[in-house]
Amino acid sequence: MSNIEQTLSIIKPDAVDRNLSDEIKKIFEKNDLIVKESKKIHITKEEASEFYKVHQSKPFYNDLCAYLSSGPIVVMILEGKNAVLANRKLMGATNPKEAEENTIRRLYGISIDKNSVHGSDSVENAKKEIDFFFNN
Ligand code: UDP
Ligand code: MG
Repeated sequence: MSNIEQTLSIIKPDAVDRNLSDEIKKIFEKNDLIVKESKKIHITKEEASEFYKVHQSKPFYNDLCAYLSSGPIVVMILEGKNAVLANRKLMGATNPKEAEENTIRRLYGISIDKNSVHGSDSVENAKKEIDFFFNN
C-alpha cells in the first residue's frame, strides 16, 4: 500500500529547553511514525523567516521567527501511513488550550506561540519543508 508519506516535524525551543525531545519522539514511534532523520540545530532569524514565509503578512510573523531562532530546535523527518495528517492529529490544535487531551500540544504546550511542535500541513508543504532542512 502506498499511502506511506513523509512529513517534517520540529520540536520548538520551549520543548527542547525542557528536555522533552525524547518523550515527544516516543509519542511518534508509539503511534507508528518512524523518526527517519533527526538533528538538533540552531537556526538564524533569517532562516526562520524563510521557513515561515507563508506567514509573512500575519501580525505574529516577526515574533514567530524570533522565537524559532531563539534556541536549539530538533528537526525530524517522520515516515508512516498518512504521516502528514497522523502527525497533525498527534500535535493537536495550534493553541494548546484548545488541543484535545493527550495531544503533544495539550501535554506540553505553554501558549499559542510556545506550542512545542511544528508539523507540515500538506504533502506538498512536507516535501518543501523536508528539502529546506535536509537538502544535502
Ligand atoms: N502562532 C502565533 N500566534 C497566532 C497563530 C500562530 O504565535 O495567533 C504561531 C504558532 O506557534 C503556530 C505558528 O505560528 O504554531 C504557525 O501558525 P499556524 O497557523 O501555521 O499553526 P500550526 O500549523 O503550527 O498549527
Ligand atoms: Mg502551519
